[in-house]
Amino acid sequence: MRVLVKGAGVAGLTVAWQLYRHGLDVTVIDHAERAGAGASGIAGGMLAPWCEREAGDERVLTLGRLAADWWEAALPGHVCRRGTLVVAGGRDTGELDRFARRTSGWEWRDGAGIAALEPDLAGRFHQALFFPAEAHLDPRAALSALTAGLEEARMRVRFGQAAPAPSELTFDRVVDCTGDAQIGHLPGLRGVRGEMLFLQMRDLAFSRPIRLLHPRYPIYIVPRENARFMVGATMIESDDRDAVTARSLMELMNAAYAVHPAFGEARVVETGAGVRPAYPDNLPRITEHDGVIHVNGFYRHGFLLAPAMAGEVARQVLQNDRRDERIAP
Ligand SMILES: Cc1cc2nc3c(=O)[nH]c(=O)nc-3n(C[C@H](O)[C@H](O)[C@H](O)COP(=O)(O)OP(=O)(O)OC[C@H]3O[C@@H](n4cnc5c(N)ncnc54)[C@H](O)[C@@H]3O)c2cc1C
Repeated sequence: MRVLVKGAGVAGLTVAWQLYRHGLDVTVIDHAERAGAGASGIAGGMLAPWCEREAGDERVLTLGRLAADWWEAALPGHVCRRGTLVVAGGRDTGELDRFARRTSGWEWRDGAGIAALEPDLAGRFHQALFFPAEAHLDPRAALSALTAGLEEARMRVRFGQAAPAPSELTFDRVVDCTGDAQIGHLPGLRGVRGEMLFLQMRDLAFSRPIRLLHPRYPIYIVPRENARFMVGATMIESDDRDAVTARSLMELMNAAYAVHPAFGEARVVETGAGVRPAYPDNLPRITEHDGVIHVNGFYRHGFLLAPAMAGEVARQVLQNDRRDERIAP
């Protein structure tokens, strides 16, 4: 069966990978010049279903807890399973109790326990919640590796194309994974703007994502290769994709500084803004319109929930084989 996948973000590439693993012939197209040109390329890459349960539905945990295994099986060596550390400043320690009440899968750590996990945080916080089963990955590296894997398997991944080549105009199924480009087309889909920055700092090292609880702007810092730290992310009800605002930059920097003042000397090597596509319940959906399957609404959970949704798309495509009614995308 020949399937066209539109969009080479995390949704499209995980669907394409899952379909290829089921033996289908897959073509991926993206109008951008590289994988992850949308929200996926600026994501934190946290696979944190226990932490995300704090403000998310139970399904974020039940579906998301499978994600780290899926990514590790697809891309061996890409997943760091070192947990998540959640901290709060002196005046906000009540936030930790609140976070603990709304989540599970954590262990309390005192100052010595924090320093044992993250030596560079020694003396900075008295209490933390440690979520040992959580994981993270580098989104850009993961998306490039999925693209390379598909190409090695002789699937076609075409960048700079919003439509398939004229010689390939018929497919048995079309799966649309174009993310926020569908706002205004898919009923109920809205945008939640997220801004982030990359800091580079050789004097600090973290092994795992650190979340800082704060009543106004909870943020996280995710370590990356090459002494880089991804600092994210704002949550603004808007589909504005324009550059990071000065206010958001200031708040993200303040929060990083609150985690460790050494970040004051860090280099700001990149800033980014993207739009998380979301439905009213903030859960992803698979819908069908005019014969096209749409997978969208990943909100804060693209890397966390795409594996489960890709499995469901593959099941639907295989069960509902429509080779007799070819679709022109
Ligand atoms: C700052 C930030 C941090 C985040 N952190 C995390 C995190 O730590 N963990 C997590 O799980 N999730 C995280 N998310 C959420 C996650 O990034 C999104 O849920 C996810 O990226 C959505 O993926 P997508 O593939 O649906 O959309 P996108 O990544 O936006 O992909 C859509 C693709 O479709 C392409 N496209 C658009 N229109 C067309 C067209 N007409 N033809 C062809 N191609 C087209 C675009 O170029 C793009 O590549 C974060 C999001 C943000 C903004």
